[in-house]
Amino acid sequence: MRKILTGLAFISIFVFSFSWASDANAGPYIRYASYNGLRYVYLRDIATYYGMKMQPGDKTCDIRSQSGNATFTYSHREGRINGIRVTFMFSPYLNGSEPMISEYDFMLIVDPILRNAVSKHKLGVIVLDPGHGGKDNGAQGRFYREKDLTLMMARRLKDILQAKGYMVLMTREKDTFVELPDRPAKAAAYKADLFVSIHCNSAGSGVSNINGIETFCLTPEGAPSTSDAKARSSKKENGNSFNKNNVYLAYCVHRGMLRNTGATDRGIKEQRFAVLRDAQCPAVLVEAGFLSNLTEERNLATGSYQDKITFGIAEGIIAYHRAMSGR
Ligand SMILES: [Zn+2]
Repeated sequence: MRKILTGLAFISIFVFSFSWASDANAGPYIRYASYNGLRYVYLRDIATYYGMKMQPGDKTCDIRSQSGNATFTYSHREGRINGIRVTFMFSPYLNGSEPMISEYDFMLIVDPILRNAVSKHKLGVIVLDPGHGGKDNGAQGRFYREKDLTLMMARRLKDILQAKGYMVLMTREKDTFVELPDRPAKAAAYKADLFVSIHCNSAGSGVSNINGIETFCLTPEGAPSTSDAKARSSKKENGNSFNKNNVYLAYCVHRGMLRNTGATDRGIKEQRFAVLRDAQCPAVLVEAGFLSNLTEERNLATGSYQDKITFGIAEGIIAYHRAMSGR
C-alpha cells in the first residue's frame, strides 16, 4: 500500500523539442497532429525511425522488429512494450486510418524503453526504502505485515547489490517509523544515484483473487496518473527531472521481477507518490505482491520467493546500469 498524492486538475501543454531530430543529417521525420489539445505523432513514422514494421489491427496497432515490439490500443491507455504491460499517459487513436500516439508517450515511455533513450549517470550509491515501519504496519495479510516483509526484502536486496560492488544504504534498518518526506531526504543526504522503494500490495480484505507485481514511476508533469485519468498536475516535481530514467528503471526492475518469479504482470504504472515526487535521483516504487491473496502472501514470506523478487530487482538495476555505461 502507498499514499497517493493526486495532482491538481490543471492542464498545461508541454512542447517537446525533437532535439535528437536535428543532430543527424538524416534525422527522423516524424509528423504530428493536434488531438484533444495535445500533440500526437504518427506511429507509422516512429516505426520507420526504429526500423520496425507497423501492423495495424482492428482495435490495436503493433510495431515490431527482431529486437523489440510495442502494442497500442485505440481509446485505451493500456498497452505493452516488449511484452510488458504499460499504462500510457494518453489513449492512442486512429486519425483516419493512421494510428497516432501522444508525443508524451512517445518521448517519455516508448523512446526511453525501446531505444534506451535515457541520460547517463554514475551509479555508485543505491538507496533502498523498505515501505512503512514502526507504528505504520502497512498492509495486513492474514499472517504477515507489510512493514516486516519489505524490510526482509530490502535486506536481501542490499546483500545482493553489495556483492555486486554497489554501495547500498537504507532509509530504515529496523522496525522504525520514518515519515514519507524523510525517505527521499535521507536518500539525498546519502547522495543516492538510485532509489528503490519496496512495498507489498493489498486489494482490501475479502478481495483475494487479485495478485501480481506492479512497478511505479513518478507521473511526468502535465500527464495523468494511472489511477486517475482526470488529474493532470502541471507542477514539475524534483523527481520529474528524471522522467525518462524513471520509466526505464521501472521497466528494467519490473521485467527482472517478472522473469524471476513468473508472477502476474500488473504493469508499469505512473503515480505521484511522495517518495517518488521528492526524489533527487531516478526512483521507482515496487509492489512485490498482494498480501490480500493467500498464495502470494505465503510466497512473499518465504526466503526462496524473496530471493526471486530481490534477484529480479537486482537484475533490473544491473541492466539499467549497463544501459547507462554502454557496457
Ligand atoms: Zn506500502
